[in-house]
Amino acid sequence: MNNVEGNIAELVEAVRARGAKRIFIQIPEGLLMRAQDILDAFDSANVKAFMSLEPCYGACDLRDAEAESLNCDLLVNVGHSDFGVNERIPTLYFIWKVDANAIPALEKDWQKLAEYKSIGLVSSVNFLQILPEVKAFLESKGAAAHIGKGSLMEGQVLGCNVSSALAVDARVDAFLFVGSGHFHPLGIGLRVDKPFYVLDLERAEITKPDYTKFLKQRYLALALAREAQSFAVLVSGKPGQHFVDPYTIKERLERLGKKAWIFTMDRITPDKLLAIRADAYVNTACPRITVENRGEFRKPLLNPDEFAELMRELESAARVAV
Ligand code: SF4
Repeated sequence: MNNVEGNIAELVEAVRARGAKRIFIQIPEGLLMRAQDILDAFDSANVKAFMSLEPCYGACDLRDAEAESLNCDLLVNVGHSDFGVNERIPTLYFIWKVDANAIPALEKDWQKLAEYKSIGLVSSVNFLQILPEVKAFLESKGAAAHIGKGSLMEGQVLGCNVSSALAVDARVDAFLFVGSGHFHPLGIGLRVDKPFYVLDLERAEITKPDYTKFLKQRYLALALAREAQSFAVLVSGKPGQHFVDPYTIKERLERLGKKAWIFTMDRITPDKLLAIRADAYVNTACPRITVENRGEFRKPLLNPDEFAELMRELESAARVAV
């Protein structure tokens, strides 16, 4: 049985174990080509299944209201792990494990890490099972390797949660992310304060991402937001993307004499803001939107940590002026 068939068989088994008869499935974009195989497997298992073709970005992104309206008794979120979102209906989070071999990239490129005595290892949920072999390899080359445990699974990081990295931060000289694509490493590398490397399992190479472009965009957004008199506070309807209270942000701005309005949407995209007159935006939802898409917004877009930095500056300037 190959990796895909194995995952599908396990998924069907997990749903059966929950006794579900009518399910609503969400899968990440990378698995869409398997959508019909998954539906066929549930047909064979006599489980009625609805497959959502809306994008699913994480365990934060539950279409539970839609599942409820279709009278489903189970929401199935494939490819992500539970991080405690309040669900309206019973939800199964199914981790889709991806088989990959980290050794060729390590053999070829481990010298890029040779200057570090102690390395923190992190990954996305689908590749966590590979971390022990990466740890063993690095140890065989004389480096200490640490897999931290924060509020997620051991070694697991998300763009909005790097607690596994922070758990070992004091003990390591650098971090190595093991996985594929630029999606996860981008947000994570900007949130840790140590040299950050990526072991890309698809390309079989270790690289050190260059964050210069993103850092420049961040400084520019902060500089422009300093002059802003009006702010749109952006809130997503996705149930797991409520990281801060938008009213606290609005009230803080108003105390400084600024105008602020709160707008909600499912996915935060620049086109929805075309008619909105505001000098700057504060994104309270997925922080990756700001990192990856900041350049597409017509006005400066800040994440809550950047907004907090801005407020510290503006509030201390206001105190001095009094
Ligand atoms: S990084 Fe964004 S998409 Fe991923 S889990 Fe966090 S909020 Fe969701």
